[in-house]
Amino acid sequence: MAAQSTHVIVGASLAGAKAAEALRAEGFDGRIVLIGAEPEPPYERPPLSKELIRGESARESVFVHGAEFYPQHEIELRASTTVETIDPEASEVGLAGGERLGYDRLLLTTGAAPRRLSVLGSDLEGVL
Ligand SMILES: Cc1cc2nc3c(=O)[nH]c(=O)nc-3n(C[C@H](O)[C@H](O)[C@H](O)COP(=O)(O)OP(=O)(O)OC[C@H]3O[C@@H](n4cnc5c(N)ncnc54)[C@H](O)[C@@H]3O)c2cc1C
Repeated sequence: MAAQSTHVIVGASLAGAKAAEALRAEGFDGRIVLIGAEPEPPYERPPLSKELIRGESARESVFVHGAEFYPQHEIELRASTTVETIDPEASEVGLAGGERLGYDRLLLTTGAAPRRLSVLGSDLEGVL
């Protein structure tokens, strides 16, 4: 019997959660490990600066899936876990704390973070 294929997804937010959902919906029956640095399950960010902050929606409404979704679909959600290294030769990711996790397929859904412009004049009014 062939060994179970492992699909590791790094970044447990909207893109990562939707990718895991799509893998199962498309019939992938191997192991899915969804790794996220944050303590929360994947959640949508737009409501944070809108409905949620105005108190118009409940905290639970921002989660991409209910907590039961992940075990039901055999998606191993590893929250509060940061991937520190990727070793493509060995097909392994290195987690904070030293654990190494092998993968057959790796998907990076780590989003983006704004960087401040570090040139002269970047602090002028109107430069964002
Ligand atoms: C307050 C707010 C309001 C917004 N409002 C809107 C809106 O109205 N309309 C709109 O179109 N967009 C909006 N956005 C932007 C939208 O939320 C993002 O486009 C969307 O979240 C991107 O999703 P993502 O899954 O690609 O990445 P992200 O949401 O950035 O998630 C990436 C995840 O990867 C994790 N990660 C990163 N590196 C590692 C690592 N090494 N190991 C483990 N985990 C890691 C991060 O912790 C994070 O949870 C808003 C964003 C914010 C913050």
